[in-house]
Amino acid sequence: MELDNEMSKVGQAGARRFSSIVLIVIIVVLALSLTALYQAWEAIQAGDLTGGYYLLIGFVGLALSTYMLLQTRRRIKRFTLETPPITTIIVCPKCEFKNVRNFERGDYILKDLGTCSKCEGTMMITAIYREVPEKRKEEKLYP
Ligand SMILES: [Zn+2]
Repeated sequence: MELDNEMSKVGQAGARRFSSIVLIVIIVVLALSLTALYQAWEAIQAGDLTGGYYLLIGFVGLALSTYMLLQTRRRIKRFTLETPPITTIIVCPKCEFKNVRNFERGDYILKDLGTCSKCEGTMMITAIYREVPEKRKEEKLYP
């Protein structure tokens, strides 16, 4: 359970960093489209028909930034929910006793984890891997 919290924290931090960049882009597009709309309003007030182009640019910009905002929200949700867990395999080389648990901070291959619960041997980390969900494997096979 502790690991799950740790992992989701890492995922959220990554998502936050990612979204801040996209957010800046969205704000810039939004500012530009609002400027275009303002220009359109000024031009129309002055009786200039080219204001219609600004109006079009403004609305396209607004639609684009709204679309990007929705896409970003969806991506962040995916990023946070689909972080696969990391598993640590601990083996006693003396009696072959195997223990599987979630990865904990400070784990590394060949790390000494104290005496075995079955014999006097020393428990050792033999593997650390990230579990890839079946769905993502399929995505890789058929892009
Ligand atoms: Zn043992």
